[in-house]
Amino acid sequence: MADPKGFLKTRERELPPRRPVALRLMDWREVYEQQDSGELRRQAGRCMQCGIPFCHQGCPLGNLIPEWNDLMHRGEGRQAIERLHATNNFPEFTGTLCPAPCEASCVLGINQPAVTIKQVEISIIDKAFENGWVQPQPPQRLTGKTVAVVGSGPAGLAAAQQLTRAGHTVAVFERDDRIGGLVRYGIPEFKMEKSRLEQRLNQMIAEGTRFRAGVEIGRDIAWDELRRRYDAVVVATGAPVPRDLPIPGRDLDGVHFAMEYLTQANKAVAGDDVAAQITAEDRHVVVIGGGDTGADCIGTAHRQGAAAVTNLAIGRQPPMSRSDSQPWPMVPTVFEVSSAHEEGGRREFLASTVEFVGDDTGRVSALRVAETEFVDGRRVPRSGTERLIPADLVLIAMGFTGPEQESLDAQLGVPFDERGNVARDGAFSTSTPGVFVAGDAGRGQSLIVWAIAEGRSVAASVDEYLQGTTELPAPVRPT
Ligand code: SF4
Repeated sequence: MADPKGFLKTRERELPPRRPVALRLMDWREVYEQQDSGELRRQAGRCMQCGIPFCHQGCPLGNLIPEWNDLMHRGEGRQAIERLHATNNFPEFTGTLCPAPCEASCVLGINQPAVTIKQVEISIIDKAFENGWVQPQPPQRLTGKTVAVVGSGPAGLAAAQQLTRAGHTVAVFERDDRIGGLVRYGIPEFKMEKSRLEQRLNQMIAEGTRFRAGVEIGRDIAWDELRRRYDAVVVATGAPVPRDLPIPGRDLDGVHFAMEYLTQANKAVAGDDVAAQITAEDRHVVVIGGGDTGADCIGTAHRQGAAAVTNLAIGRQPPMSRSDSQPWPMVPTVFEVSSAHEEGGRREFLASTVEFVGDDTGRVSALRVAETEFVDGRRVPRSGTERLIPADLVLIAMGFTGPEQESLDAQLGVPFDERGNVARDGAFSTSTPGVFVAGDAGRGQSLIVWAIAEGRSVAASVDEYLQGTTELPAPVRPT
């Protein structure tokens, strides 16, 4: 341990500065600047190297956080990336996109703000790429076994990388025109620039993973045909079915699901010519849903030049600081005002939409909203509180209900659990031999860190199925 009193010398939790709002609204680049290396080392030195590191247990990947905090404090970046990659295939994804349950678990958070674990993580991987320390790790030998991974989000990519490195011949199928799933088209550039994804895909290609974009399993190739062609199949198709708001006026023009809007925005930023693109330019935008996807819509709408942005959330405003009766740390990154909220717009809490109001052309012109109250354990509109909010673009960001079931059901006959997710046993195996499921398709909508952890774990199960034994790690089991 380099400095046992680091947390006493550096009491303040410091993150790198965010670029000025006026500047960042003019482009799509990431919001945070790089952290000064001296400050980064001081922040990493705040880690107490706990005997029982709750940060480690709070991370589904089991990241070796105290180890790489210490290494970064001592300026040992090369060793730090080795320890980070030992448990996490894609620290550039989690370092930018994870809400950091590790920080909520940090013991230092009892008396001081938590260690800036996520910032240390992204700094390690950025430094590693800059210095050429991230190199392909092709397998020593091939097993002769083939695996199809369906879906190229974080769970599918993690499974593919682990299985390729174990010597299997892996093909990743993606129905979109580019690889990356939600990381490609669901996440705006200002949260994670796509160059981070590209550099990781280049590493995977060099290791031998094969990518097949623009191929929809269930339509272009039937699921049962895929199963016949490959020794094992991993279903990592996510939980893309959005939660709808079936109220009067839902079919009006200008009412869209968030993911439809974000996908088109990401394609436009990538330089694609998007026909009839849904854009917020000069629109009065209302985003329904107070989560991360809603915040992504807000930031995107501001960059597209929205006239006004309102964000509706059915719940209460989250507490911004700890109360005296709650000494345990809050989730530091979740309860901050996010970068997107800092950029403008209005937030309304305890607001329930009861009707989309249209104009003579059939386009939405307003939302009728009401305050909410708790009745029988549910939040419902309070009578007499209704009012109109002008809106000519409405984005529904109310979460996701689960995986698309139709073709999986018809072509493979895999059952679904009571929540609508693909049913699986304790080894991520479906009822069809050789077909496994990982990530949101089996778990339901969850965090990117869980997707990577499930991808790593399903790889261990597939490897054992194909070879009778495995040395691959399995950080999590199915719930
Ligand atoms: Fe360091 Fe916090 Fe983990 Fe303790 S819980 S080892 S202080 S990061």
